[in-house]
Amino acid sequence: MPWCEGCSKFWNPNSMPPDGSCPSCGDVIAEPPDTTVPWHFWLLALLVVVYLGWRLVQLFQWLVGSGLTVIAVVLGTALVGSVAWLGAWLWRREPEDDEGASVAGGGPG
Ligand SMILES: [Zn+2]
Repeated sequence: MPWCEGCSKFWNPNSMPPDGSCPSCGDVIAEPPDTTVPWHFWLLALLVVVYLGWRLVQLFQWLVGSGLTVIAVVLGTALVGSVAWLGAWLWRREPEDDEGASVAGGGPG
């Protein structure tokens, strides 16, 4: 519980702004909370991508093995197009995303 000397009051961390300042007088009374994503989240995300990627390879193997090569080609083309579009979209929006992160602070997302 952060204590503010100026206001003589305990503050609930949930009722404080993300920079650790007092909501009443603005003095910094607590460490800003650590909002970085933990490393094991990225490990889990990587494992999910690897697993789903392998299941996708198995899907294409099954489609080709079942004589549905046309569907495999159409699906593969749509997939490559979607990934290329997503990559272009992420590449394009990256500069304005940095500005938004500094303004939004500890917002969702
Ligand atoms: Zn205060």
